[in-house]
Amino acid sequence: MARRPGGPTVGHVLPTHRPDPHGPEARTDVLVAGGGTAALELLLALEARLGGTAHVTLLTQDARYHHRPLAAYGGAVPDAATVLRLDELAAEHGAGFVNDALASVEHRSDGTVVARTRSGAAIACRALVLAVGSRADDVLPGAIPLGARDGASRLRALADEVRAGTVGRVAVVVPPGVSWTLPAYECALLLRHAGAAHDVEVQVLTAEHRPMAIFGEAISATLATLLRRRGIELRTRTRAEAFSEGRLWVPLEPTIAVDAAVAMPRLAGPAIPGVPADAEGFATVDDRGRVVALAEDEDPVAGIWAIGDGADHPVKQGGLAVAQAETAAADIAAWLGTGDATPPPDGTLVLRAALLDGTGTLYLRADREEGGWRSTVSREPLWWPPTKIAGGRLAALLAGPTEAPPTPVA
Ligand SMILES: Cc1cc2nc3c(=O)[nH]c(=O)nc-3n(C[C@H](O)[C@H](O)[C@H](O)COP(=O)(O)OP(=O)(O)OC[C@H]3O[C@@H](n4cnc5c(N)ncnc54)[C@H](O)[C@@H]3O)c2cc1C
Repeated sequence: MARRPGGPTVGHVLPTHRPDPHGPEARTDVLVAGGGTAALELLLALEARLGGTAHVTLLTQDARYHHRPLAAYGGAVPDAATVLRLDELAAEHGAGFVNDALASVEHRSDGTVVARTRSGAAIACRALVLAVGSRADDVLPGAIPLGARDGASRLRALADEVRAGTVGRVAVVVPPGVSWTLPAYECALLLRHAGAAHDVEVQVLTAEHRPMAIFGEAISATLATLLRRRGIELRTRTRAEAFSEGRLWVPLEPTIAVDAAVAMPRLAGPAIPGVPADAEGFATVDDRGRVVALAEDEDPVAGIWAIGDGADHPVKQGGLAVAQAETAAADIAAWLGTGDATPPPDGTLVLRAALLDGTGTLYLRADREEGGWRSTVSREPLWWPPTKIAGGRLAALLAGPTEAPPTPVA
């Protein structure tokens, strides 16, 4: 059974920007580790729910917000989020800020959770939320990793070459085991558009049986049509193994000649020592986002939540991370016994995506229904504000003041 911590709560030693590993232990009520979509959405949800009744601290290795859906394209599309400073954002929303990385987690007998940082400092808290995302684990050898930080500048250089026509054939590869495959199709469409003047050939090789299979058949069919119309070749059920010497190697098939290859990496979890995780390092959570020990010989865990790409949900997607943050915020308020613990509405699973195709945006929405998906595809926004990561408070903050939606939104 989860044990409720009875330790001291308020009267904190407020964490400083860089905690002193030799100084006194810092303390906070809720420690949110991470600086991406999940962490910031949670920070905003906690502000709304706790209303200043508990102290919240953001622990992140980044100085600025990293908006992965746009940052991946290395400046090829505008990324307003790169100007968002995390220390300022935390201060504006009443939270402490520590610029360091979570290294490990310990539990004290009084129920306190202690986070150790990479620089050696200790921060004691009543509730710890792991929102540290995933890491690129396995990338097709020789290919530019799509979405990994070291891939952005290489992708930008490739886009420049495509635009100049000095690269004639590009492949975008989706390996098996990747659930959110939209970035691959988006990347292919953007590159094809960039190289349109030189008729640069772009093809997608995916291990999926149909493009963006997770979204259901109707959206797959729309995407296949869009790729065909743009002259992008699609090869499904294909597993490329390596890219070298201008050739893609596919087992039992002739090699494919291309000048450059971009590939989605397979993801692995953060595997933070002290936090139960599955075999791939993703924190194992229940439907409230609480970290749970799955193995019988592991001690029960209390006071730790995990949300976003670092948790063991099957689909790693920003819109889902936003929903998980809201659920966790309500549960944390209940756990602390303060603020508004009203559970969020039990929504059915909905996937929303804004696909950039070079000429505009295609809005995709799929609602889980018994026996399949109800899908909508539109050139008009299907949610508001029409941000890449849909829903929640962060989207509204990033979008700033917006006009009223042009048409009724779903
Ligand atoms: C190219 C691309 C396109 C995408 N397009 C879409 C889209 O259109 N719509 C959509 O909904 N989703 C999209 N996604 C998915 C979406 O970006 C992710 O699901 C989302 O970013 C997950 O948020 P997160 O906060 O869990 O992880 P991240 O955004 O990866 O953030 C993790 C944060 O934690 C920090 N961190 C890491 N380790 C530590 C540590 N030990 N201690 C402290 N901080 C740490 C990192 O520095 C980072 O700030 C896309 C992803 C990619 C790569």
